[in-house]
Amino acid sequence: MATYREASPGQAAFLQSLLDAGLLLDTGAPGLLGQGAVFDDVREAFTAAVTRASGADPIESMRFPPLTSTFEIEKNGYLASFPHLAGTVYSFEGDDAQALELEARAARHADWSEFQSKTDAVLLPAACYPVYPQIARRGPLPSDGVIVDTGSAWVFRNEPSGDPARMRSFHMREFVRIGDPADVATFRDVWLERTVDLFTRLGLVAESEVASDPFFGRVGRMLAANQREQELKFELVALIGGPEPTAIASFNYHQDHFTQIYEIGLEGGGIAHTGCVAFGIERVTLALFRAHGLDPRAWPAEVRAELWS
Ligand code: AMP
Ligand code: ZN
Repeated sequence: MATYREASPGQAAFLQSLLDAGLLLDTGAPGLLGQGAVFDDVREAFTAAVTRASGADPIESMRFPPLTSTFEIEKNGYLASFPHLAGTVYSFEGDDAQALELEARAARHADWSEFQSKTDAVLLPAACYPVYPQIARRGPLPSDGVIVDTGSAWVFRNEPSGDPARMRSFHMREFVRIGDPADVATFRDVWLERTVDLFTRLGLVAESEVASDPFFGRVGRMLAANQREQELKFELVALIGGPEPTAIASFNYHQDHFTQIYEIGLEGGGIAHTGCVAFGIERVTLALFRAHGLDPRAWPAEVRAELWS
């Protein structure tokens, strides 16, 4: 079992108020929260506002299921960097007697895990991962590269917590830029500015910070320090449950990490880099409820217009 993180008093109180209002629905498992109609409406409206904010960029849409290939997360380095967050799909392949024993144990909530074995599917940990192998299949990219919109994808990270902003299953919307290094850097700057503007129109005070990924272990601490030093990751942070701001969107520059692994290059032999902007859709939705109250009908007119125009 992954370590459960206790909520701070402010986070616990915010979660309780969301449950009492029917905005979030308790499933009994920490970090796995259902969403009521009003929460869902705001979440969808924010997703649409992001689409409008993407402007005139030549964007290609790709959609993937919330499960992805085990082979790909073995290949792309996820298990090396984030073994503590991964979720794997196991399934039953036994005989009749084993099925009966599994059921007998399950009925008394005893351990039945020995009757299941690993499959070729894992839970998708970030929306952008399935994009790289797809782009690699095309061979060399045109010199101006590509921008891919993953849509709002269900992702999983095994970090159980009492903080409503730290879910195990949530929506992530990403725009992935693959192309010339200068184009990737520009893309990140443009999206950082666009996103600050969007959040400002939504009445959210979001600060930009240099950040790092939660890499695992001792080697991970070095990777994180390096990532910060090179300013490869920025986050926009906002108030959600407690007094400490939480990341609601991230802006990531992977340099040649994925293009090396997947052998992605540009036509004529040019080097390709990748970057992505990732929105934590539930966190933005929570930040809106935190900033404007639990009843969207009473939100400021300009915020409502931005969401439901
Ligand atoms: P990351 O790939 O870690 O930068 O995550 C992208 C975005 O997803 C973050 O900026 C957050 O807004 C959101 N996010 C990350 N982890 C969680 C979580 N456990 N629960 C809810 N949202 C999350
Ligand atoms: Zn990404």
